[in-house]
Amino acid sequence: MEDAPSWVCRLTTRFPEPIVSLYISPSPALGRLRLDFPEGDLLRPSWDEYFLKLAMLASERATCPRMHCGCVLVKEKYVLSTGYNGSLPGLEHCEEVGCLIVDNHCVRTNHAEMNAIAQAARHGVSIDGATAYVTNMPCTTCAKALLAAGVVRVVVFSDYKGSLAEKFFDESGVTLDRRTMPGTVITYDLEGYSSASRFKEGTSGSETH
Ligand SMILES: [Zn+2]
Ligand SMILES: [Zn+2]
Repeated sequence: MEDAPSWVCRLTTRFPEPIVSLYISPSPALGRLRLDFPEGDLLRPSWDEYFLKLAMLASERATCPRMHCGCVLVKEKYVLSTGYNGSLPGLEHCEEVGCLIVDNHCVRTNHAEMNAIAQAARHGVSIDGATAYVTNMPCTTCAKALLAAGVVRVVVFSDYKGSLAEKFFDESGVTLDRRTMPGTVITYDLEGYSSASRFKEGTSGSETH
C-alpha cells in the first residue's frame, strides 16, 4: 500500500471492511480523491512495519511520562532483543516517584536502545550486523552505543529533538531509514477464525504489572 509522495493525505478506516484508504491530493492531474480497497493479504505488514510495530508495543511498557520509546534489535528477520525506556532493574519508576531531571532531561530511565543492548549483553547475544527498529530517532548517546555495538541499519518513524544521530550514522556508514508510522491497531479477528474460540467465562485472568 506504498503510495506516491504527491498524495499529501491518506485517511484509513476499518469501516467498512476491508480497510479502505482515502487519498487526497492537491494535484488535479492525479485527481483529487482516490479510494483504495486493498485485497485481504495487503493487510499483512511488511517486515519493517512488523518490527516497528513491535517497537511500538515495547514502548507501552515505558515508565517515564515524558517519553515512551521502544526498540527492537533484529538480524536476518529474527528478534535478538527488545527494550523500552524505564528505570534500572528493581528501582522506582518515574510514574511512582516523579522524573529525575538534569539539564531538562529525565535521567531516571535507561533509554530503550540502551536497555535493548543491555538485554542482549545479559544473554550473551551478539548484535553485530543487526538492524535497530526504534519508535524515535535515537538520542546522540544511544546512536553512538548502537554504532559501537555493531548495528548497521536503523529504522525510525519519528525524530528526536537535538539528536546528532544522523551525523554519526552518516559518518559511520550506518543506514538510516525513516518510515511512515505504522497503524496503531492490532488486528486479531478471534471471532472470525474458525479454529479458535474465546475461553469460557471465568477461566482466564490477568497478570499483575
Ligand atoms: Zn522520567
Ligand atoms: Zn537515547
